[in-house]
Amino acid sequence: MHILFVVPGWPPESFWDVLFFKFPPLSAATLAGLTPSEHTISYADESIEPVDFSIKPDLVAITIMTPLAPRGYEIADRFRKMGVTVVIGGIHASNMPDEAACHADAVVIGEADEIWGNILKDAKSGQLKPVYRQRSYTEMDKILPANRTIYPKKGYFFENMIQTTRGCPYRCEFCTVTSFFGGTYRLRPVDLVMKEVESLKKTPGYIFFADDNLIAKPDHAVSLMEKLKNYRLRWVCQAPITIAKDEAMLQQFAEAGCHGIFIGFESLNPDNLSLMGKVQNKVEFYEECIRRIHDKGIGVYGSFVFGYDHDTESVFDEFLEFANRNALDGAFLPVLTPFPGTKVHKRLKAENRILTENWKYYDMATVVYQPAKMKVEVLQEGFWKVNKGFYSLSSTVRRLFRLSSLKRRSNIIFMPMNFGHVPAIRKARRSFKTPNYF
Ligand code: SF4
Repeated sequence: MHILFVVPGWPPESFWDVLFFKFPPLSAATLAGLTPSEHTISYADESIEPVDFSIKPDLVAITIMTPLAPRGYEIADRFRKMGVTVVIGGIHASNMPDEAACHADAVVIGEADEIWGNILKDAKSGQLKPVYRQRSYTEMDKILPANRTIYPKKGYFFENMIQTTRGCPYRCEFCTVTSFFGGTYRLRPVDLVMKEVESLKKTPGYIFFADDNLIAKPDHAVSLMEKLKNYRLRWVCQAPITIAKDEAMLQQFAEAGCHGIFIGFESLNPDNLSLMGKVQNKVEFYEECIRRIHDKGIGVYGSFVFGYDHDTESVFDEFLEFANRNALDGAFLPVLTPFPGTKVHKRLKAENRILTENWKYYDMATVVYQPAKMKVEVLQEGFWKVNKGFYSLSSTVRRLFRLSSLKRRSNIIFMPMNFGHVPAIRKARRSFKTPNYF
């Protein structure tokens, strides 16, 4: 069979569409790695290049996140009209399987690593079932190296994404990780991770450890660092703020080639953190945390969510002042987005505060619910203010061009990332159209 993996695109000129650093979905490359060699594989990510509807594959596999669902369904419908079999999976399909089923011959709920081979066999024999779900969560030693040869030659900022763990032991109210992985936290054997790392020598560049939480089992993280430091690698990862409490681990991260850590700070307001269930975060530790990580030459990419119930109009200026004072290297600054399947979605729905369930607006750049302490328009304008302010030339210079910042090796990655955001955010702001439910 000819199998086409498809990643639907963001709406043209939307916030995420115009950013120059694009990430490939690891799930497609992982499934490609699990696809028997008797099949032919191709790949289309609309954020890089359009889907070619002039070819007629035997099977189209579409992975969808919530804001990409409407476009994913359009693509699915078009292929099905051509007589092509369509399978839909991913986080959104797993949370909304009945909705996805209206556009697919089969829906995959949850992880697919251990059933992908069976799905292909069923598709080949014309006996596809409407729904597939693994009996249990994937055993991590069953994950084969991802097949990254499917990616286009140019277009991705990080191509070398690897997972060393899956899931997260925390239960943050807004996060889809818990619903998708059922609160599990599973470790991939370090030897298997290293085998995959070795295979990346052919594709130089940064490695992105795409785990949601790299350090929940410190022994596993330490074993990984001990192996990684034998290579001359540059990499970034995601980890909770608690990493900064462990001086020895931070040192090992630095020696193993870590250039940046994505940390979910989420809010400067302890009441918000408490409402989120972000129990591991203590605001009084934030500045010390950033300083400790910087002292190791590692950059801090902070995630802060805007619009939680204790946020008022002052939150945007407070954040910008904090970011500039602490020389934050980069930041992900979304509005709160109550994705289906999360606890916050259920809570806001019960409180009658969800303004739309048109998923195209669930892009983390558009307000889709009624905030508690500000008007919808104020939160929306605040989103633009905080993103434009953080990624302005003056803020970038203040954060990255101070004497203590300039010597950090993490600038190799954070400087282009910051400068790349400046025109992109201006363009996205100009193109933003206020939704009619405001
Ligand atoms: S710590 Fe991060 S990955 Fe874990 S549940 Fe919270 S937001 Fe999700």
